[in-house]
Amino acid sequence: RRPEMQAAAATPMMAQYIEIKTANPDSLLFYRMGDFYELFFDDAEVASRALGITLTKRGKHQGDDIPMCGVPVHAADDYLQKLIGLGHRVAVCEQMEDPAEAKKRGSKSVVRRDVIRLVTPGTITEEKLLDPAESNYLMALGRVKGGEGESLALAWIDISTGAFRVAATGADRLLADILRIDPRELIVAEPVYHEAGLRPVFDVLGRTASPQPANLFDSASAEMRLTRFYEVATLEGFGHFSRAELSAVSGIIAYVEKTQKAERPPLGRPERDAEGASLFIDAATRANLELARTLSGNREGSLLKAIDRTVTGAGKRLLAERLMSPLTDPGHIRERLDAVSFFLADPSLREAARALLKGVPDFARALSRLALNRGGPRDLGALAAGFSAAAGIADLFETPDLPAEVAGIRDVVRALPYGIAAHLERALADELPLLKRDGGFVRAGYDAELDEMRALRDQSRRVIAGMERDLIEETGIRSLKIRHNNVLGYYIEVTANNAQALNGSDEAKARFIHRQTMANAMRFTTTELAEMETKIANAAARALTIELAVFDALQKEAVDAAAAIRAAADALAMADVSTALATLAEAENYCRPQVDESLDFHIEGGRHPVVEQALRKQLAEPFVANDCDLSPVGDEKSGAIWLLTGPNMGGKSTFLRQNALIVVMAQMGSFVPAAEARIGMVDRLFSRVGASDDLARGRSTFMVEMVETAAILNQAGERALVILDEIGRGTATFDGLSIAWAAVEYLHEQNRCRALFATHFHEMTALSEKLPRLANVTMRVKEFDGEVVFLHEVGRGAADRSYGVQVARLAGLPHAVVERAREVLHQLEEGEMSGKASKLIDDLPLFSIAMKKEPAKAKAPDRLGEELATVNPDELTPREALDMLYRLKGIA
Ligand code: ADP
Repeated sequence: RRPEMQAAAATPMMAQYIEIKTANPDSLLFYRMGDFYELFFDDAEVASRALGITLTKRGKHQGDDIPMCGVPVHAADDYLQKLIGLGHRVAVCEQMEDPAEAKKRGSKSVVRRDVIRLVTPGTITEEKLLDPAESNYLMALGRVKGGEGESLALAWIDISTGAFRVAATGADRLLADILRIDPRELIVAEPVYHEAGLRPVFDVLGRTASPQPANLFDSASAEMRLTRFYEVATLEGFGHFSRAELSAVSGIIAYVEKTQKAERPPLGRPERDAEGASLFIDAATRANLELARTLSGNREGSLLKAIDRTVTGAGKRLLAERLMSPLTDPGHIRERLDAVSFFLADPSLREAARALLKGVPDFARALSRLALNRGGPRDLGALAAGFSAAAGIADLFETPDLPAEVAGIRDVVRALPYGIAAHLERALADELPLLKRDGGFVRAGYDAELDEMRALRDQSRRVIAGMERDLIEETGIRSLKIRHNNVLGYYIEVTANNAQALNGSDEAKARFIHRQTMANAMRFTTTELAEMETKIANAAARALTIELAVFDALQKEAVDAAAAIRAAADALAMADVSTALATLAEAENYCRPQVDESLDFHIEGGRHPVVEQALRKQLAEPFVANDCDLSPVGDEKSGAIWLLTGPNMGGKSTFLRQNALIVVMAQMGSFVPAAEARIGMVDRLFSRVGASDDLARGRSTFMVEMVETAAILNQAGERALVILDEIGRGTATFDGLSIAWAAVEYLHEQNRCRALFATHFHEMTALSEKLPRLANVTMRVKEFDGEVVFLHEVGRGAADRSYGVQVARLAGLPHAVVERAREVLHQLEEGEMSGKASKLIDDLPLFSIAMKKEPAKAKAPDRLGEELATVNPDELTPREALDMLYRLKGIA
């Protein structure tokens, strides 16, 4: 039932529908019919399912019923929100003329209709559709193939605030760069979208990514598009962009034009994100560290939620952005920290600023709506409130010796054109209606003619009330009423049995003109009443015209000052973030980190920001702080690796993650949960923690683990921080141990980065004998009466055992099983497992040396290996596995 079937055979209206739908194939078409938007054919089926509204039918097309559903215009925003949330795009098609006009052209004529806007997840501005705490980015991928090969760039805007940025990227880090920005919508040129090499990225993004016609991304016409959009003669003031960047920018502008039709959002000029300016965090690490969301997708439990003390929507968005893109430039980080320190040191200034900020509305978003002609009186009100808070902040920050960031905030808010604010204050009423078409938002006393019209209108209403009184007296009908409706206007109403008095005589008939007969009432009018009505209607219409003119003038004034207003909104968001981080640091007892160019990593008394707060909420035991030192030791040039052993539930993962989170927090410019922190700037953060199954993509846990580990070993450089939790768990023990062993050697010898490596394989602690920058640490436990008590303390040395059996007991395994396990364990330990690992150390040359020795000499037959090769661990019962282990020991 595709509508593109011949429009010829359709009714004129259906023909029009089909034509418009064909031009907008990938959007649901909201086709305006009177007070409803109606959807037909497949669109109706999709929307009725998505919205839970009734699917009906309307007429026939080529002999079949046409499926149809509709949403009332006044409630359309709610339905739009739901559809957009589900990743749909909607084309809003309006009636472009009064139906009466169409009739004049002939009885078969259809009302002219046109799509006035495409609503897509990345281009919305409505308050209802937007989450105040999240940016709403539309992103475009630009790609050019040239002499030097392929180059890629990303451009992204937030139409709701006007932000516009560009950055170069690369195929290997494309996904990480996209996830850093976390756009709602990514547009890609059709051929690029289908390219095999990039396909996996778009697969991960799912519906967020959509292919668009390639001509949108034409870098050659980008210059023309930009000059036209910004109404400038040349791009000289824009700085230099690569061709890939121009292509991305062009895609963005073209898409904005395509979706917004005639309206222009107040976009700032594109600003470039310098390469390497932000800490690289790959997709898996970002997810595993639960920065903005937990692995299960909730905000509750994320780092962002734990550290957010902001009081404005714009502040929340900026905080999230800083968290997603921590910095790498120690100077820039210091500047942010200076601002936090400043507000920490002056609680009264801080609280005064926060009190002012609490009153700041989302005025960047209000401005965007105004610029797109979608604003209402409350958006103007928001601007007024924003200006007044900004003035308060400017006064407050009028102290000497401000840190650079705070002084910058003050300068920007001081430069606002406050004349507009004064104008808004004078013009706007105290209570503002939502829609401008209702009028009533201009303050009395602002416009003399408006006041006059309003007086006339109100006075006339009083005159009508007087007429009613007079008529009651004259006719003696106490129930006589003068009423108003949209069809008749003002009319006199009497009950049927009283009608005689108004139409009983010729004289009465001449004065009271009959309008309508109801079941038990009759309606009349008089010349006097009709005249009064015209007066009222004229006055009201004139009043509304004046109000709308005032609105347009105020709107234009604001939009003309868009750049300054947007800058002030950004500055206030910065003030919110800095004061919020100071509030956090004080409440949570965080310390100011020192980030420099060294390769140190020295944390004293570090804590996990999320777990610490959770433990406090549950009134459980307090969080145990732990040190971590990965700084180069002695003459070593590179940072160290800590090999962490200890029982399950001992706190290994918590310790690993907390150190990664401390880096993220420090480099985003926040204080950190520690007593002291000195961090040589980290340029890349990698983690392989937890078991994130990726079964949907047909990869086993072990495969995912290996893919992620491979990415780390291939990419981590000297400045990286790597966190590896239980590598090699997802396979047979010997396999796992070998892989973990080799990975640590490689990290130490090749990557030479700072790393934390948690493992179950106690054998690995022997590695510290050969690797000078590797230290063994362990989670301390106390044993008491055969029970294990976790101290959550990281201490030097290696765990002597894993306490798995004790943990199993705590977990409630049946007593008999626990006892049997103890026996088996005892047997195994008797069998002298110990000593094996140090033998490994003696026999196996170091990784790097082994590599150089290639090609390896033919080895003597390895019976143990052969035997092992026949084993499929997944198919063994525990009993068979145990037997097998005894047999293997015999061979060895
Ligand atoms: P492992 O990775 O060793 O299995 P986890 O890191 O998952 O252990 O920690 C297990 C639990 O112990 C956590 O849920 C947390 O409640 C608690 N825990 C971990 N570290 C600490 C700590 N430093 N202080 C207090 N409790 C902790």
